[in-house]
Amino acid sequence: MTKTFKAILVSRDAEKKQSVAVTDLTDADLMEGDVTIAVEATTVNYKDGLAISGKAPVIRRWPLVPGIDLAGTVISSSNPDWHKGDKVILNGWGVGETHFGAYAGRARVKGDWLVPLPEGMSAHDAMAVGTAGYTAMLCVMALERHGILPDRGPVVVTGAAGGVGSVAVSILSSLGYHVVASTGRNAESPYLINLGAAEVISRDELNQPAKPLAKERWAGGIDSVGSHTLANVLSMTSYGGAVAACGLAGGMDLPSSVAPFILRGVSLLGIDSVMAPKAVRLEAWRRIGSDLDVDKLASLSTTIGFDGIIGAAHDIVDGKIRGRVVVDM
Ligand code: NDP
Repeated sequence: MTKTFKAILVSRDAEKKQSVAVTDLTDADLMEGDVTIAVEATTVNYKDGLAISGKAPVIRRWPLVPGIDLAGTVISSSNPDWHKGDKVILNGWGVGETHFGAYAGRARVKGDWLVPLPEGMSAHDAMAVGTAGYTAMLCVMALERHGILPDRGPVVVTGAAGGVGSVAVSILSSLGYHVVASTGRNAESPYLINLGAAEVISRDELNQPAKPLAKERWAGGIDSVGSHTLANVLSMTSYGGAVAACGLAGGMDLPSSVAPFILRGVSLLGIDSVMAPKAVRLEAWRRIGSDLDVDKLASLSTTIGFDGIIGAAHDIVDGKIRGRVVVDM
């Protein structure tokens, strides 16, 4: 008998109205690829929330199994780099956007998209990190490349109680940075301090229209919010500092001026995780293995089952999810 597995399928009708259903698929339904994986864990990122809720055009092939992150075990492979039984992670590469993604019992993908599960890390741990956490690491690496090390002064993290923000606070504090965490949820202050924030500030301090230059408050920042928040972070960055920008939870615009760049030599560092080359991914995951405290990782994640994915997807776009969500398949 053909083996079936559960999957979430997002479809669109002739009027382009989107619908989401749980269905049964078989291997024959999966898209092309040279490696088939039993999905053991996945997660719900902001982008997955946008895909399932239809609030932004993340899905560009219909119908589609969403889910941009997975960890699992190779079932079969015709790629020389991967063999049955290998433990692997996949983040991005258009999976969950144009290629069937993680919200299914099985996935068939290109072997070139996979990285090995780091030594000592479970599928669950890897998904507690997920694209959000790996992106936070890319942001930290970008700041380091720019010379923003702990001795340069405080670093601000916006959207701090979210997925990227929580992992960024955790990694930065483990590395010895003085972390200023900005959140719209004051009740999450104890959580952020537990993750290692030295100060917690209200998101309201950063979400009004920015002055070209404001009082210098930090040497750098990791911003997952965009819009006025990123403009304020830039205008408050001290001379020669740098800000890694990776997100748009507050808006895609950037109502800023060139003043921070031309009068304070501030740099804006763009971060993309989706198409990041394999060598960069391997380095980011290696650093996650060494610089992210396992106890902190546990404290910033909650676990749900397959049946909780759709609800969590709506919650994350409503800003109701704290830290990271792991889906145990
Ligand atoms: P989360 O929803 O987990 O976190 C986003 C956080 O931003 C929220 O928790 C909230 O933090 C804050 N926030 C939400 N809405 C607003 C608002 N209107 N104004 C100000 N702050 C707001 O999402 P993720 O951490 O998974 O992703 C964060 C962003 O990064 C998203 O835009 C995502 O698309 C992007 N991203 C980009 C990647 C890339 O490759 N460039 C990869 C991964 C993510 P708080 O409650 O603490 O204020």
